[in-house]
Amino acid sequence: MEERKRVLVTGGAGFIGSHLCQTLLNKGNEVFCVDSLITGSINNLLPFRDNPRFTFIEHDIINPLSMEIDEIYNLACPASPYQYQKDPIHTTLTNVIGSKQLLELAGKTNARILQASTSEVYGDPTVNPQDEQYKGNVNIIGPRACYDEGKRCAETLYFDYRRKYGTNIKVVRIFNTYGPNMQLNDGRVMTSLITRALNNEDLIIYGNGLQTRSFCYISDLVEGITDMMASDSSFTGPVNIGNDEEITINFLAELIIKLCNSQSCIVHADPMEDDPKMRRPDLHLANNILGWKAKTSLSEGLNHTIQYIEHVLISSKKQ
Ligand code: NAD
Repeated sequence: MEERKRVLVTGGAGFIGSHLCQTLLNKGNEVFCVDSLITGSINNLLPFRDNPRFTFIEHDIINPLSMEIDEIYNLACPASPYQYQKDPIHTTLTNVIGSKQLLELAGKTNARILQASTSEVYGDPTVNPQDEQYKGNVNIIGPRACYDEGKRCAETLYFDYRRKYGTNIKVVRIFNTYGPNMQLNDGRVMTSLITRALNNEDLIIYGNGLQTRSFCYISDLVEGITDMMASDSSFTGPVNIGNDEEITINFLAELIIKLCNSQSCIVHADPMEDDPKMRRPDLHLANNILGWKAKTSLSEGLNHTIQYIEHVLISSKKQ
């Protein structure tokens, strides 16, 4: 039996956060979910809302927080380009001021703190796959910079707090992750394609569809970040966590049409500004230090996700 900890999950009502809260509760911990609900949903918390070891606190991490805690997972930040560009200044401040507030809290309460960073710190990469040494190719002033540069600056703050105050930090660079509890209307490629395929509508691909991505199923990701939190304190990261099976967006769209038994066709639209042309994690560090590897195949993960989206679509039609 593992020791029960008091764990704070910021962004716990979002896609990844809600799965993480569930896993931490299953392990016997006391879980405090802090979320402003800017993109998250109380519905994601319903399966464990009444668990006596679970507490929800509505709060924006830009503001100071005071509590006694053993571990902090900082996931608070909108993750889809559509959501993070709606209020880009707030996105930058969430990453920078929000991280500062949580690093201060970690220092006061002597907690270990894990930052959910992102493959977007590599921007539109000029090397493939991307390992943690790669410094990235980010457009500093483009529409995605509030997220990419916000996350890069957050990493800087984490390492400066470690150097200056000895804060117990962990930094994980998450690559595209998918699964149940994603919002259906936030423009992320996986949910957009599946939703349209289930409705037999045209699947819109931005650009020629030859851009590549690697998709990690949510259960694998949660295992990776909890393994990172539990690892030796000398290992700070940054460490890539994701799936290294690289596919084109055209391949993904065709597979989704097949798995959904859909009549949809694929149509191409203008490419999105600063959209990366390729994306694949180098996972040697995660494999060697954490002994972690993604286990879920793309078709298995897609089938779970399709089932979830089908259920949401049917329930919303009934209402
Ligand atoms: P999400 O939008 O579903 O969840 C983010 C959560 O953070 C939401 O519940 C939102 O309400 C909350 N939030 C946002 N700003 C906040 C603030 N200022 N104060 C308090 N709460 C706030 O996104 P997700 O996919 O679950 O991503 C979670 C984290 O993982 C994010 O930090 C994201 O950058 C990172 N990440 C995700 C992916 C992915 O593929 N999903 C990839 C790389 C990194």
